[in-house]
Amino acid sequence: MIKEDIIYFGKRIYGQGLSPATSGNISCISDDNNILITASGSAAGDLTFDDVVKINFKGEILEGNKKASSEKNMHIKIYKKRPDIKAIIHSHSPEITAFAVSGLEINEVIMPEFAFYFGSIPISKYYLPSTIELAEDVANLFKNKNAVLMKNHGVIVGGRDLKETFYYLESIQAYCKTYLCAKLLGKVKALNKKQIKEIDNLKH
Ligand code: 13P
Ligand code: ZN
Repeated sequence: MIKEDIIYFGKRIYGQGLSPATSGNISCISDDNNILITASGSAAGDLTFDDVVKINFKGEILEGNKKASSEKNMHIKIYKKRPDIKAIIHSHSPEITAFAVSGLEINEVIMPEFAFYFGSIPISKYYLPSTIELAEDVANLFKNKNAVLMKNHGVIVGGRDLKETFYYLESIQAYCKTYLCAKLLGKVKALNKKQIKEIDNLKH
């Protein structure tokens, strides 16, 4: 993956309201097996070539004049824990962050798509943004999950490439919007165990 891919998906992330102002960050594994990551303070919708820097797995800058995202350690730790993950998006989407603020993991299976791709989304403890404690807690939760809520902060999602990662994020956003709208209507009916099992069977 290349810098242009991050710029392209930055616009799509911003266009969907998934990254208000300068919140969040995006990274991917580069063709030479380092990490391309957005610069600290950059806005997803306005990224230019200079706003994407290359770092190694120690977090050292290899290319670019700007500072790498303050959450670079979180991205690095997830890549180290999950070699199958090649792209990561951290977002402060208001609808998803509403769940992170509630302090509850997302575990009500209200639609088949959610059961198929996620089953549930765990939540980290609250830590100061950019700290190594946050990075470690989140990376540990990625052991067998592709998305983690960050308590009182946002969400982080990983996939095999930027497109898949973006689709995961969009799906979680759709889940959260649907759930919140259903709550307004007064009733949320989750799928039962048998229905969830049937969906799981579709994977084999
Ligand atoms: P950066 O601009 O440093 O990537 O930080 C944004 C953010 O969301 C911190 O959690
Ligand atoms: Zn953040």
